[in-house]
Amino acid sequence: MPPAELSPAEAVNQFFDDAADLIKLKDEFHEILKTSYREISVQVPLRTDDGVERVFRGYRVQHNGARGPYKGGVRYHPQADLNEVRALASLMTWKCALMDIPFGGAKGGVMVDPTGMSSREIEGITRRYTLAISYLLGVQRDIPAPDMNTNAQVMAWMMDAYSSRYGYTPAIVTGKPIDLGGAPGREQATGRGVVYCLEAAAKRYDIDLERITVAIQGFGNVGSWAARDLASIGVKVVAVSDVKGGIYRASGLDVTACVDALNARRSVVDLAGTDGIDALTNEELLTCQCDVLIPAALGEVITMENAAQIRASLVLEAANHPTTPEADRVLTDRGVRVVPDILANAGGVTGSYFEWAMNIQQFRWKEERFNEELRETMMRAFDQTADFSDSRGVTMRRAAFAIAIERVARAARLRGYV
Ligand code: NAD
Repeated sequence: MPPAELSPAEAVNQFFDDAADLIKLKDEFHEILKTSYREISVQVPLRTDDGVERVFRGYRVQHNGARGPYKGGVRYHPQADLNEVRALASLMTWKCALMDIPFGGAKGGVMVDPTGMSSREIEGITRRYTLAISYLLGVQRDIPAPDMNTNAQVMAWMMDAYSSRYGYTPAIVTGKPIDLGGAPGREQATGRGVVYCLEAAAKRYDIDLERITVAIQGFGNVGSWAARDLASIGVKVVAVSDVKGGIYRASGLDVTACVDALNARRSVVDLAGTDGIDALTNEELLTCQCDVLIPAALGEVITMENAAQIRASLVLEAANHPTTPEADRVLTDRGVRVVPDILANAGGVTGSYFEWAMNIQQFRWKEERFNEELRETMMRAFDQTADFSDSRGVTMRRAAFAIAIERVARAARLRGYV
């Protein structure tokens, strides 16, 4: 039996401790920066379409607000318990600080499996959850966004529920439909940011993008947009997967056909058996033959069980917390470079910042401007992290946490928290 791995919140705090050691963070900061400011747990009742009363559990965790209003997505997933939401809220604090955008960190979740639920049921859960946490939200207080199993439509319902109580407030959520004040480019921003990171890594570490192969676990918002952008710059995507399983083709997949399956609400697995495409499991995808691995689904998928078998030499963490600290050490020892989640998937919250700023100014940018600003912000953060990592001889994760912790600690000191 492998040794028991840490809980998600303990794992994130281990990454924190590793970086805090490096920058010799004073003891007085540890408690305030490692624990949440506020954690709320609420009932989310729903009468299902067959008339059954069910009660789900919902959470909103506000981790740290020293640098600005709390910001973070809402996920609907059976594993979205308080410990996971707490870990993800903390990651948001470090991510926003690393990107140098004026937000603190938060996360929300409802412990529900929305698979097979009707739109009416999901709307019901969304409205109940939003009203239950609404007094903690605010345009200058806490701004939710989409995450796993939530999307622009869910954000529209959240905005409507909040607005019914407090007056029309588009800036209360980001990742909204464009018709309701969403920003052109936001939907694509997380996946696009992952690809900007790959381009930055290629430039810095001399990787020939035309010769590499990429495997992506998860073909939802983040994974599918990363795949589309990779295909558009001529990078070969050899494997993709969704909750039902994955597919592999050594000479490269037709990303458009995968997106067509997604749009038709079919699994990518349905493409297996045609055109030389093989089926593979989600576990096999992680260790398949590829140069770059992009986990873009659940957390904690790279563990002690598989870290030694991963064949990619570069991992871009599009998902949040996909690598346990133990597995991270194995990858480092094996010379696998990891671009950590708080950098690789930060295009989403950066795009959310642009959307929020546009909403409060009642102004809209063109998509070209959105993408230019996103690219510039991602490239700057990547270079700062890589410079720190190279100059101190530490992993990019340790460097990213170190930069972020220093920024949050400075803000906390200036505001008189410590
Ligand atoms: P999504 O719900 O749009 O897509 C999730 C994908 O993962 C789907 O293809 C789904 O079928 C697949 N999946 C679900 N369970 C799985 C399992 N057990 N094994 C393998 N695949 C599984 O979610 P998303 O918004 O693309 O988010 C994906 C990841 O990216 C999450 O970790 C999320 O926290 C992170 N993230 C998302 C954003 C964003 O803007 N959406 C921003 C930053 C980080």
